[in-house]
Amino acid sequence: MRVLGVRHGATRVADDATVSGDMSRRSRDERALLREAVRLACENAERREQPFGALVVRDGRVVGTGVSTILRDGDPMAHAEVAAVRDACRSLGTLDLRGAMLACSCEPCPMCHAAAVLAGISRIVYAATKDTAARHGFALSGVAADMQSTWRAKRLDPVEHVPTEGADEPFVRFDERART
Ligand SMILES: [Zn+2]
Repeated sequence: MRVLGVRHGATRVADDATVSGDMSRRSRDERALLREAVRLACENAERREQPFGALVVRDGRVVGTGVSTILRDGDPMAHAEVAAVRDACRSLGTLDLRGAMLACSCEPCPMCHAAAVLAGISRIVYAATKDTAARHGFALSGVAADMQSTWRAKRLDPVEHVPTEGADEPFVRFDERART
């Protein structure tokens, strides 16, 4: 199988999946997946990119990863979650990710939420909340914030916060890099 970890640095989950087919098929704990998304986000922050990472998981296997490349690409839509969805679609050769889960280092914005829904993703979990992001200067504003709160209030989506140890660490590292 493809080694998922190469593009964004060696990842423990991808390494496990590469080493053993059995391990790649096992059901993976959501918290472990979120810790991996947080780890990708930390790595990205160390590269002086924005501190966000995401994984797409299907049938217990990581099928896509993504990090924010907003600063590198000068692209305000280059969010980690969109990158992970694209990676999963390319990796699986499909536009249909029904049954897959998106694990995000931080609460997804409305664009990423919509991208996941369009691809058929059935569950979205995230580690850091939008409030944590806002404390570090990553607040949604205006229409985007309205869209997010409207969707949440209507409970139209399968988005769930899963408290995760170290969820704020990518932001801390980003702030440290910004000071040096
Ligand atoms: Zn987004």
